[in-house]
Amino acid sequence: MTYTDEEICTHFGEDPQIYNGAISPPIYQTSLFAFRNFKEFIDAQKLERENYVYSRGVNPTVNILEKKLAALEKGEKCKCFSSGMGAISAVFFTLLNSGDHVVLINNIYGPTTQLINYLSKFNITYSFVDHHLTDIHEVIKDNTKLIYVESPGTMLMKVVDLQAITQLAKTKGIITAIDNTWSTPIFQKPLTLGFDLSIHSLTKYIGGHSDVIGGAVVGNHALVDEIFEYGYQLNGAVLGAHDAFLINRGLRTLPLRLKQHQKNALKVIDYLSSKQEIANIYHPSLVKEDYPFLEKQMKGYSGLLSFELRNAHFESVSRFIDALSLFEIGVSWGGYESLVTAPVKDDNEEQLIENGISPGLIRLSIGLEGAELQINDLEQAFHQIK
Ligand code: PLP
Repeated sequence: MTYTDEEICTHFGEDPQIYNGAISPPIYQTSLFAFRNFKEFIDAQKLERENYVYSRGVNPTVNILEKKLAALEKGEKCKCFSSGMGAISAVFFTLLNSGDHVVLINNIYGPTTQLINYLSKFNITYSFVDHHLTDIHEVIKDNTKLIYVESPGTMLMKVVDLQAITQLAKTKGIITAIDNTWSTPIFQKPLTLGFDLSIHSLTKYIGGHSDVIGGAVVGNHALVDEIFEYGYQLNGAVLGAHDAFLINRGLRTLPLRLKQHQKNALKVIDYLSSKQEIANIYHPSLVKEDYPFLEKQMKGYSGLLSFELRNAHFESVSRFIDALSLFEIGVSWGGYESLVTAPVKDDNEEQLIENGISPGLIRLSIGLEGAELQINDLEQAFHQIK
């Protein structure tokens, strides 16, 4: 049976009749599950990833979320974690052995890069490539075990041809994983393009209300079961039932919210395009003509974008950010609220330029307040810094 994304986000995986008709599934706030007799207990323990034994295994509230995310991604199975980084580290710790090599493609989230760098103490090496397939061919080695991708990235929002990557990886027997947080499975379903694993920070659009941190990994039974046993149960980054409840609640409105984030973001981009003060704007919607694969790969665009203030440095970026009032200053993105941040600091301009990032780069997470308010706020900030 096939379900629409909207059905999955709302009713899929839930059965009010088994929780006394409650339309909102209960929060199973419990660390352990008790058994009627010792035999049942022993039997359940034989397969802890299927049976409710201990909440550092499976928990019914978390399990509802896992079923929905697996269905949305068109994967067989999902495991949730206490954070996106919990999910990412579980993948690395489970799949990588000493002596393995990893290829990282596109702009990768900073802490993920730090983690892979840290794994060098276990003799795990890595190569970075931007987004050209020819470069990927060049860096693959006999010991390449994993190709890890972000598309779109979350600073310059660059995209890569996902199917071309998985086709190449399959010819070489390399596992492929993608951080799909930017798009969510509503706008991009990487498993249908051949990826083995799709990873999420649920903290962003899926939670959607900036009140919870969580992560998830979706893939086939064999891979997710292996990750469950080692990277999840033994590392112990467990998503609590209360947090799973909040993320489930966020998920119910995800398709609607994303449509609105997209609508607002496209209007804001339109406005920014008219500003002399701006050198470049970065959002996948602006490069769809350059990359024909995008039409097949992405069904829509969320609200994370960046732009470069012309001839800007730390001081001018600071002045612009401080002049905003609707946009709150903060890390993270994907919530209901508009946020602003920038990578520039008072001591890193040279390093940014070396990494191909302009000191004038500013990132906006376009929230749900409405494009008119967002544009008014940007406009008054441009006036203030004139
Ligand atoms: N992946 C991306 C693209 C992110 O932006 C983040 C957090 O900002 C993460 C992963 C990590 O997620 P979390 O903060 O939930 O650990």
